[in-house]
Amino acid sequence: MTNSSILILLLAFIILVSCSHSKKENMDWDKIYSEQGLEKVKTDSSNIIVELRYSTDNNFIGKDVYGNLEEAYLQPEALEKLYTASEVLAQSNPDLKILIWDAARPRRIQQILWDTVDIPLEERSQYVANPESGSIHNYGCAIDLTLADSLGNPIDMGTDYDDFSEIAHITDESTLVDNELLTQQQVENRLILRDIMVEAGFLTINSEWWHFDAFSREDTKSRFQIVE
Ligand SMILES: [Zn+2]
Repeated sequence: MTNSSILILLLAFIILVSCSHSKKENMDWDKIYSEQGLEKVKTDSSNIIVELRYSTDNNFIGKDVYGNLEEAYLQPEALEKLYTASEVLAQSNPDLKILIWDAARPRRIQQILWDTVDIPLEERSQYVANPESGSIHNYGCAIDLTLADSLGNPIDMGTDYDDFSEIAHITDESTLVDNELLTQQQVENRLILRDIMVEAGFLTINSEWWHFDAFSREDTKSRFQIVE
């Protein structure tokens, strides 16, 4: 055996070992999602940015739970609503972009979030959907998003993603302003997001300004399958 072939064998061995120790689980997400009829959110030449927070350690459990999943997937009808919201935003606020933090989320990831969150079991389902019944995200019919400026920096909505405090609630923002927990500007920023999403046919939930459902829970469960 020549020196160079020993070197090639050595390099191949190093690459093999480092791959098997890689933290990023190499899943074929496109296959997993497309088998359930989900489609990838297009980000080319539109005002849509995707930065999945669960594919970073900048999230409430401080861990990357998505591995090599970097793109957002939705049921096609939910995706059409998202594109409508993007068109409405382009008309009303051409300097702003949609910044997607999460969309379809497999049930196996929901289980990790459920098991990891540091909230007593009896209160947990108020903040994280129980994987047993499933989150609307698990069906590819929910989306978590904010708005970003032209450089892609998130605009100020008063809280970060997955803030479990009442400041993230949308039910009584005027009281939050009165109590100086939110500013009027932060509420106005939230309203830009809420208006485009509601106009596009999304439903809000009370406890998270960033979360929108494309369909009710009943409609979602009767029409679509959970992505495991
Ligand atoms: Zn959500």
